[in-house]
Formats: sequence, structure tokens, C-alpha cells
Amino acid sequence: MSQILVVVDGAVAKPTLELLTLARRLGDPVALVLGADGADAAGPLGEYGAVKVLTADDPAFSEYLVTPKVDAVQAAVESVQPAAVLFGSSLDGKEIAARLAVRLGSGLITDAVDVAAGDDGPLVTQSVFAGNWTVQSNITHGIPVITVKANAVAPEAAQATPEVEALSFEVAESSKGARIVTSEPKRASGRPELTEAAIVVSGGRGTSGDFSPVEELADVLGAAVGASRAAVDSGWYPHSYQVGQTGKTVSPQLYIAAGISGAIQHRAGMQTSKAIVAVNVDPEAPIFALADLGIVGDLKTVLPAVTEAVKQQ
Ligand code: FAD
Repeated sequence: MSQILVVVDGAVAKPTLELLTLARRLGDPVALVLGADGADAAGPLGEYGAVKVLTADDPAFSEYLVTPKVDAVQAAVESVQPAAVLFGSSLDGKEIAARLAVRLGSGLITDAVDVAAGDDGPLVTQSVFAGNWTVQSNITHGIPVITVKANAVAPEAAQATPEVEALSFEVAESSKGARIVTSEPKRASGRPELTEAAIVVSGGRGTSGDFSPVEELADVLGAAVGASRAAVDSGWYPHSYQVGQTGKTVSPQLYIAAGISGAIQHRAGMQTSKAIVAVNVDPEAPIFALADLGIVGDLKTVLPAVTEAVKQQ
């Protein structure tokens, strides 16, 4: 069976398990762990079907921008000769994937929402034009390089016992071009990353600036918090939490829009969510046309009631 290289940049997280689940549709997953303890990672990676774990670390990974990691992935591709390479669709994931594709002379597809085995290699699905079109395509040139959005698939366990091997590679001097000068850790909220979360609770202008009902519901659900642009522009929530055309694109299992009207620019960032719940005082709000479940009511009473109900369970 052909091997599929799954690139794990740092610690194993839920999107990694999703990548392994998709990779198993195409062949035997080989995980390449960049800059983290691969031996520690072997347990969870094996539980999701990784037949082999390659580890790669170098001080240059944390000193420079992504090019040293591209050297490692290229060496892994040369060693494994995979039938495809899968990355998560993070900013770094997409940049490493793009640079790798150029080096390999391969085709690249980014932001896939599904990957299946096809007659001519992986059949990749993308959701484009704000989710209004679904595109399926193949890569016809070189080893397919694909980045996959978080929450594309529910992770499914499949026990394997991977051998762990240190990858032999060298970071080229030419890859040490862009040194990281400062790198500040993200403000820790204890909540999942917005683009990776399985559940997102977002607040809009209807919060009147008080996000506490939104945050409290998010916390009992283990969800990330999002915001509409109206809320961000009002200074109620940081821009890094904005969902929409000029913010983040999310595709969680469940998206709860509270006090958000459902403008096209907001929908562009969340309409591929698997289930959408809207809470709005206006029964004519456009968000209800998109919602799977609509609650006409004041978010300041509806959200705390839902929070209490979840706590009781
Ligand atoms: P509003 O449209 O004002 O809606 C507030 C809603 O809250 C209303 O439906 C109201 O009925 C309801 N409400 C009020 N009080 C309560 C209450 N107590 N309980 C429950 N409901 C209540 N927007 C984005 O979100 N993301 C983007 O990335 C984005 N990019 C844009 C890019 C461009 C180029 C442009 C032109 C616009 C962009 N916008 C974006 C803005 C977008 O057009 C809307 O203005 C914005 O989404 C509105 O945010 P909102 O739904 O929170 O506010």
C-alpha cells in the first residue's frame, strides 16, 4: 500500500488526528513530527493509524521562519516517496506546503474540506466563493501536496504500532534567510483556537458590548469565542476573533451566532459550519435563513439559560 506523509508541525492536536483519518483513505499514514518530541507523539499518532513516525528537530526551526522546516519535509518526501503529502491549513502549514510544492514541482491544493481516494490520485474537495461553490479536483503533476482545514472530518481511531525514526536531514544555509526577532506567546484564554474549534460561540452588536454570556456559554461547551465585525469595530473584542470575509473562516461542527444579523460578509466566514444555531431578537434577521435552529429571543436571557442547562447535564 502506498504511504501518505502527514506533516505535524509541533504538538499533536485534533487537526492532526483528522489528517491521519483522511490519510488512511489514501494509504498508510507516515507522520513527520517537526520540532516536538516525536517519541511522545507516537502513542496518539499510532492510535489514529500512523504506521511510522519520523521525528525532525533543529534549533533553526525556532530561530528562523518556515524554510528550515521545508528542508526537513523535503528530506522526508525523498525518503518516504509518499503518494501524497497532507498538511493542516494553518498559516505556517500553507506556507511550508507551498514552498515544498515548488521544490518538488508538484501541484498544490489548499484549504481542502475533504479528501478521498480517486482513480487519478486524491480527489480533493474545496468550498469556495464564501461557501457558495464546491469544487472537486485532482493534482495531475508530481506528488500531490494538500492542506486540509480543521474540522473537515471527525477523527476516527485505528490502532497501529508505529516505529519511531529520527529523520536524517540538513538545514541549508540558504534556508536561514528570515530570522525571528521577537515571538510573543498568544494570550492564553484556555479556549481552543478559533479556526480549530469543534464549537464556536460568536457575539455581535446584539451583545451591546457585554460578551460575558457568550464567553460563559463557550466555556461550558469547551468552545472558542468569535465576534462579528460590528463587535470588533466597536472595540468590544479583538480583531483576531473576527469571523467573516475580513476575519477568520471557521467550519466547526456547531456555530452559535448570538446577536448577529447574518450579513453576507459574516456568512462568508461561517456558512460551511456543520450546524448553525442563531439567537436573535428580530425574527426577520437574515441569519435565520441560514440557521438549522433559530431562537427568537434576547441573548442575555437565552444564552445564560442554555449555559445553566448544559451545566446541569
Ligand atoms: P448588526 O448587523 O447590527 O446585527 C445585530 C443583530 O443583533 C441584529 O440582527 C439584532 O436584531 C440583534 N440583536 C440586537 N440585540 C439583541 C439581543 N439583546 N439579543 C439577540 N439579538 C439581538 N462582518 C463580519 O462579521 N465579518 C467580516 O469579516 C466582515 N467583513 C466585511 C468586509 C467588508 C468589505 C464590508 C463592507 C463589511 C464587512 N463586515 C463584516 C460587516 C458586515 O457587513 C456587517 O456590518 C456586520 O457583520 C454586522 O455585524 P452584526 O451582525 O454584529 O451587527
